[in-house]
Amino acid sequence: MSNRSAWYRRLWPVWLIIVVLVIAWWPGRIVYMNLLTEREAQRIAEITPDRGAENTPERLSIDRIMADLHWLADAERAGRAPGTPGSLAAREYIIERFEALGLEPAGTEGYEHAFSHERVERAVNVLGTIPGEDPNLRTIVITAHYDHLGVRDGDIYHGSDDNASGTAVLLEMARYFSENQPQHTLLFAALDSEERGLLGAHALFTTGHLEPRSLAFNVNMDMMSRNTDELLYAVGTYHHPWLVRLVQRVQSENGARIVMAHDRPWYKAGYTVDWTNSSDHGPFHEQGVPFLYFGVADHPDYHAPSDTSDKADAAFFRLTAEAALSFTKLIDQVLAEKR
Ligand SMILES: [Zn+2]
Repeated sequence: MSNRSAWYRRLWPVWLIIVVLVIAWWPGRIVYMNLLTEREAQRIAEITPDRGAENTPERLSIDRIMADLHWLADAERAGRAPGTPGSLAAREYIIERFEALGLEPAGTEGYEHAFSHERVERAVNVLGTIPGEDPNLRTIVITAHYDHLGVRDGDIYHGSDDNASGTAVLLEMARYFSENQPQHTLLFAALDSEERGLLGAHALFTTGHLEPRSLAFNVNMDMMSRNTDELLYAVGTYHHPWLVRLVQRVQSENGARIVMAHDRPWYKAGYTVDWTNSSDHGPFHEQGVPFLYFGVADHPDYHAPSDTSDKADAAFFRLTAEAALSFTKLIDQVLAEKR
């Protein structure tokens, strides 16, 4: 009996080290994560060149974008929750524009692609295409969700930055490309039910409406109209490093400071939030479709009734819209050459 217990008693230094390691693990991890977070914050804060608003191209009408933003985020739309009259009005507004611009219907019934889910009885994506010059090229999908949170406890959640802003840019980009034919076919997708878990984007694939292999790229826009630091995030270059060069080219002619971030794993960025699956580009990424997502950082009005259209910063918004257009033109050109 005494002999048998002796061997592990002699190993007490090993036990002690294990106990100390276990106790130190959690605080140690926090210290390490904080270090990584700090390093990432420094990388993000590094001065990206400000090319000046006056050197940014002027191809889109910021007046039209702002008018659409005000209309979509108006109290009458009541926050555009799926299935509500406000959502229906927004959808009809988008469809009318697609029609006026001559986009080809690309839904299951005209421009509409309806779907249901356990979290939403009936929701409707609005889809229209502009055919590309080269019919052999795959489709580039431009996405922005038009839904928001609706009315809660009597308060209207206007959803101006989130995401009347991306929807307004999508409409104006559709206008631009209807007058400037792209190489690839462009599918403009105003998506529903993003706020309930990216349901509209998921439905494109789960209903079999889109075949991932027929898609070349996804450009997603969600929250574009304001940022106190004049920063626009470009998310996705960590997964697709070949995009870095393209984003740098966009930056070279844009006055917004474009930062490539929020797509790195914890061992690169610590606690910095990873937005890889935070908006409609997520389901495209899951399907193996390369993507780039443009959006600003969360602000105090994020998912609050106070996200109203008077808070949009037209001067900054003009730059983010032009950046998204520059990138889309570039990806259209580069992928056509690559083929
Ligand atoms: Zn959003």
